[in-house]
Amino acid sequence: MKLTKIVKDIVLEGNLSDHDGYNTEAALRKEKEIKNKNVKPEDAITDLDLNTLNRNQTIKEYGYGPLNPDDEKGSKKFWEQKAELWNTTPEAAKASRCGNCGAFDQKKSTLSKIEKAIGEDGKTIVKNANIGFCEFFWFKCAGARSCDAWVGGGPIK
Ligand code: SF4
Repeated sequence: MKLTKIVKDIVLEGNLSDHDGYNTEAALRKEKEIKNKNVKPEDAITDLDLNTLNRNQTIKEYGYGPLNPDDEKGSKKFWEQKAELWNTTPEAAKASRCGNCGAFDQKKSTLSKIEKAIGEDGKTIVKNANIGFCEFFWFKCAGARSCDAWVGGGPIK
């Protein structure tokens, strides 16, 4: 078993399929497909289903979100929950996002791989969504979102 797989198993306990409620079919299919296979972090850059699997796991286990950070009303509950977890105010919680997380990889070389994998409009999409690669959970995440594993000192440039 590769070290990356061991680390991942420690970081993400359980499977996506353990969680009740709606989930993305493609992510659940991918979970079955990669069972007992070695997966490298960067595989998620080119494999959208794997990326979605890792992202959904982070939503279920680490409260990744909100869905639309620009929607103040729709994301109110999300930030209130983060504030409760950290014993702070929603305003203060909003200052800790993927965009300034220490696990948010925005190295030129990483962004270039992501842009290439997306295709023709890759550069624009990466720029507009302020995309980076989450080094903890291995998926392309948006700078305006956050999760319970946030750490300061980022992004990685
Ligand atoms: S660990 Fe950091 S970069 Fe990864 S999803 Fe959480 S807040 Fe975003």
